[in-house]
Amino acid sequence: MGEEIQDILWLHVCNQFREEEGEAVFKNWIAPLIVDTIEAGVLRILAPTAFMRDWVESHYRDGLMRLVRKEDASIISLDFMVGPSHRFDAKLQTEKMQRMMKTSKSEDIEDALSLGLDPRFTFENFVVGKTNELAYAAALRVSESKEVPFNPLFLYGGVGLGKTHLMHAIAWHIKEHHPERVVIYLSAEKFMYQFIRALRHKDTMSFKERFRSVDVLMIDDVQFISGKDSTQEEFFHTFNALIDQKKQIILSADKSPSDLSGIEERMRSRLGWGLVADIHPTTYELRLGILQAKAEKLSVEVPKDVLDFLAHKIGSNIRELEGALNRVVAHATLVGRNINIEMTSEVLRDLIRSNDRRVTIEDIQKKVSEHFDIKVADLLSSKRSIDFARPRQIAMYLSKVLTTCSLPEIGRKFGGKDHSTVIHAVKKIESLKKEDTIFAEDVDILKRVLQVYI
Ligand code: ADP
Ligand code: MG
Repeated sequence: MGEEIQDILWLHVCNQFREEEGEAVFKNWIAPLIVDTIEAGVLRILAPTAFMRDWVESHYRDGLMRLVRKEDASIISLDFMVGPSHRFDAKLQTEKMQRMMKTSKSEDIEDALSLGLDPRFTFENFVVGKTNELAYAAALRVSESKEVPFNPLFLYGGVGLGKTHLMHAIAWHIKEHHPERVVIYLSAEKFMYQFIRALRHKDTMSFKERFRSVDVLMIDDVQFISGKDSTQEEFFHTFNALIDQKKQIILSADKSPSDLSGIEERMRSRLGWGLVADIHPTTYELRLGILQAKAEKLSVEVPKDVLDFLAHKIGSNIRELEGALNRVVAHATLVGRNINIEMTSEVLRDLIRSNDRRVTIEDIQKKVSEHFDIKVADLLSSKRSIDFARPRQIAMYLSKVLTTCSLPEIGRKFGGKDHSTVIHAVKKIESLKKEDTIFAEDVDILKRVLQVYI
């Protein structure tokens, strides 16, 4: 019975170690070890050779100790010894048996091909809003359905908007609810690497064969699949074969199939055959929702107005948004300060500035014409009526203040005007602001709205 306890303990330690250090280190150094006994707070570990004992002891003792104590705090030290060879022969024998008993090879494939899945990337942790609801619904549908509802499912959207999160969520969901289904998740780079290696060894048959036992194949970031025609040709055949075999294929990319470059036309249209679900840039509401969800999980209190501030200020992508929140919290915990807007803007000064700078001239033109209820085309025209000329000058002024574009660039973007027109506009607005406080306030409101825009 005692033996069972330490076996279970060791199994947990091994799993944890594998996760932290990776499969290769685990296989080389930890897998060959045997746990022997726990006596008086000492866990005895046997290694097959003296060399291995010394190596593990000098490299992994502390790490193992930490993991062991997490499982059982009553263990106070590890004792590494060279074990009797018959114990290791027996271990090898059992492992061989276990391997032979595996009825399908699919688990091996899954292990060998899958990247580690991020445990935080689940459906539960995914906040749904208008911009991602289609992608979310499609992902959920694919995870729950026994049949193949649409093939391929193609998720696309800008960086940091949740494509990888959704793919991992699909994998987790299927692992939990349909453990018999074999799921593989791969980056496109890894997929291509393996594919090209198979091509080089003239072994694409076995490459295809390896995917035969797979039920769901996910390839992330397929915009990286481009290259020689022959490679694409083969890839195309493999892809078709998998679809014919009713394997659910899920792909992600930063562009829609029709916008992917470096990919043959035939392939491109094939990619769009199933369901193409795009994830749009975030809205303020979604950003706030995500921040609230993340903040709930934190051990410190983040005031609502700070979350609001972040949702306004960090518009670019969710990864950056999360990073910003973490930075603020880490800073507050380290220096023992309360979290408020002032310290937040201080800690995130660089980030906020770069987000502010991302306002484009087009954003400004859109906002300004909305504000004055005129058409963008009028803003870009040469109409001299004050109803158009003033908003145009304001838009030019804001372009100068809020973007890094040069005066000639700004002129060009306003229907090909000269840079002297832009200078004139900037000067005009500056002087009007000085004369007229209401006007100044109006322009400043626009400016502030634009700074939190996108
Ligand atoms: P992509 O693969 O599209 O570049 P990721 O899936 O890696 O983006 O997402 C970036 C980060 O943002 C991840 O930490 C992810 O958990 C988080 N994230 C993205 N979308 C959401 C969402 N809707 N709800 C919660 N977190 C999200
Ligand atoms: Mg990704």
